[in-house]
Amino acid sequence: LVMPLSSVFRAIGLIQRGAGAYLRIDEALALPQEPAQEPGPALPGTPPATPRSPAHALELTDIRFAYVPDRPVLRGATFTVPHHGLVALVGRSGAGKSTLFSLIARLYDPDAGSIRFDGRPATALTRRQCRAGIALVDQNTHVLEGTLRENITYAVPDATDDDILRVVRLTRLEHVVRRLPGGLDGRLGDQGGTLSAGERQRVALARALLARPRLLLLDEHTSHLDAVNETALTRTLSDVTRDCAVLVIAHRLSTVRHADRIVVLEDGRTVASGRHDRLLATSAAYRELAATHVLHGRVPENGER
Ligand code: ATP
Repeated sequence: LVMPLSSVFRAIGLIQRGAGAYLRIDEALALPQEPAQEPGPALPGTPPATPRSPAHALELTDIRFAYVPDRPVLRGATFTVPHHGLVALVGRSGAGKSTLFSLIARLYDPDAGSIRFDGRPATALTRRQCRAGIALVDQNTHVLEGTLRENITYAVPDATDDDILRVVRLTRLEHVVRRLPGGLDGRLGDQGGTLSAGERQRVALARALLARPRLLLLDEHTSHLDAVNETALTRTLSDVTRDCAVLVIAHRLSTVRHADRIVVLEDGRTVASGRHDRLLATSAAYRELAATHVLHGRVPENGER
């Protein structure tokens, strides 16, 4: 009696697992399909096909978006990120900064307005094509139990030592390589416990840059950075623009002061843009952000990049 009964229970378990898998497959099949043929010859991750390179890596025009009907979050966001430019997006909590990142990464599509990558409308590209040239480093910087090498290369496992050392230098992590017993193959400890907050953030950046994106989206978030790490981040960002365009949700004075352009978002609208000193002189909205906790940190000293 026991043997047949245990066979029946095993069979019931298998049927339940199969039913679960069937539901998941069904959900996946219900997702909207991407066209099987990738349209258009150009990927954002590859150089533009036309000999004359379009002026902007990213161009947003009058973007409007609501998660819930009749509750608009973005009500007219317009700005550009030039090739090799560093553009800082600033605004109060809830202004719509992260939502803009989600639209640029095509997690959602705008209700109105247009997004262009290298001059090409996002709607003419598949989501995969749009994302191919974008690296997103957000507030959730995951550092895994494992080595520095594993943490940097897990999206590009066949990266060479030269590739890895290039991003280590770019993100100013050489001292971590020197400090770790085993160098690149040294272990970082549980959740990167041997690293400071700034070093963890730069490991996430190194990982993103290894894929050679055309556009880096960085949310620098509000966690405290000491002076050394703050300077390292500022220098990293200006070095990174040699490789790609950078759009950063900025919370630090040191970042906005070095940005080629600052874009001020208020209640889902872009209300001002320009460099730090000019905005201080011309934009009340920016002055208010600079005077409150929204932008904080130390102001770099004269001559410090
Ligand atoms: P913070 O600086 O605090 O991160 P933010 O400027 O990035 O803020 P968003 O996170 O883009 O602002 O949020 C803008 C508005 O959209 C907020 O009112 C928020 O509650 C709302 N919102 C964000 N995500 C969703 C979502 N998935 N569904 C519904 N509403 C959302």
